[in-house]
Amino acid sequence: MRGEEPALVEALRMRALPEGSCDKLLEFLRLYRNAVQMIVDKIWSIDGRLSKRKLHRLFYSNLVSMGFRAHHAKEVYVYAESLVESARSNGGRKPILRKLSARIDRYDYKLDLDTMTLALKLHSGYEAKLKLVSSSERVGKFRGWGNYELVVKYDGSGFWVSIYFRRAVKAVKPRTVMSIDLNFDNITLAVLTLDGRLAKLKRFRTPHRKVLTHRIWVERVQRRYPRSWRFIKSVRKAIDRHGERVKNISWGYAHKVGDLVAGLASKHSSIIVLEDLDKLRENNKRGREFNKRLGLWIYRRIQFCIEYEAKERNLEVVKINPRGTSSKCPRCGKKLAKNKHRILRCRKCGFVGDRDVIAVINLYKKYVSKYSRCGVSGVALNAPKPDENPSGVQRNRDDAMKTHLVI
Ligand SMILES: [Zn+2]
Repeated sequence: MRGEEPALVEALRMRALPEGSCDKLLEFLRLYRNAVQMIVDKIWSIDGRLSKRKLHRLFYSNLVSMGFRAHHAKEVYVYAESLVESARSNGGRKPILRKLSARIDRYDYKLDLDTMTLALKLHSGYEAKLKLVSSSERVGKFRGWGNYELVVKYDGSGFWVSIYFRRAVKAVKPRTVMSIDLNFDNITLAVLTLDGRLAKLKRFRTPHRKVLTHRIWVERVQRRYPRSWRFIKSVRKAIDRHGERVKNISWGYAHKVGDLVAGLASKHSSIIVLEDLDKLRENNKRGREFNKRLGLWIYRRIQFCIEYEAKERNLEVVKINPRGTSSKCPRCGKKLAKNKHRILRCRKCGFVGDRDVIAVINLYKKYVSKYSRCGVSGVALNAPKPDENPSGVQRNRDDAMKTHLVI
């Protein structure tokens, strides 16, 4: 997968007060919701993913005849398809839309940050004008950014808009590659030069076990009161409290690690190589090492923060299919066998190494073989313990941990 041009995307969410009557805006939101539902109903029974072209052919003229503008129509069918797609991948039921919200393309609105006004183009030639409520400080940040899409919502008491802004960042020319492997207990990263010399190896502990404990507690309580937990105040409160903890721990950690990792990458002018988590479904790593009950959301959250912080520092991020990276020999490519706890061994060439370090080297190699012609040679590595400074790798009782890896 090609790395995207680094760009920062941020949403500005604020209250919006309609100038004059809001009848037409509400009418539009209802029409939009019904149109999305209609398409969801129709494509739910169709197997497989529909291309944009197919969606266009199936629904465009119908949507336009309902009064939608060209870009409304596109937003409606793309949104419907994404709802179906995500419901299917979660094994869920057909989505039923209740909330009033619409995604609007940048061709269908006019935004003026000086006067804080927003004009929306609605169905059948109608327009709605809204006054935006936000501090000039929050808004000022987005001057000079490009705005491209917005979401308008009605929550029963009033309207909200989230405007998406994007700023292109000029990528730093990478001098090194930083590959990152996310695991249940630790995050392992390696910084390697383009000719395969190791510049840094580091491990961070994760709080995932703590998060899992809170989760298990919640699940247990929900199982004990399967129908009633929502209605018993004390139980619901306790569940909320644990949920808050999970949120705080995971976001707090993700922000901290994102900042640390990107800071390090900036110091080494690295391009950051992450595992493409979408490709994990067919990968056996998920079943074994990733804890199924915790799910992938926690890894996505960490990746999100790493990417965000990297882009703030003008660093490029690429995602690589992690298939085989934790099971194949980085020297000869043969499947590795388990030697000891966390240690893998190659029966063909005798290579021995730490599981997570092998994963980061393989990610690095995959990246290099994909994006450059120069080969990788002479990587010498020692595996550090969590939070240990790898440049001064200490003596370790475990022989395999200090085995010299030469690939
Ligand atoms: Zn081998």
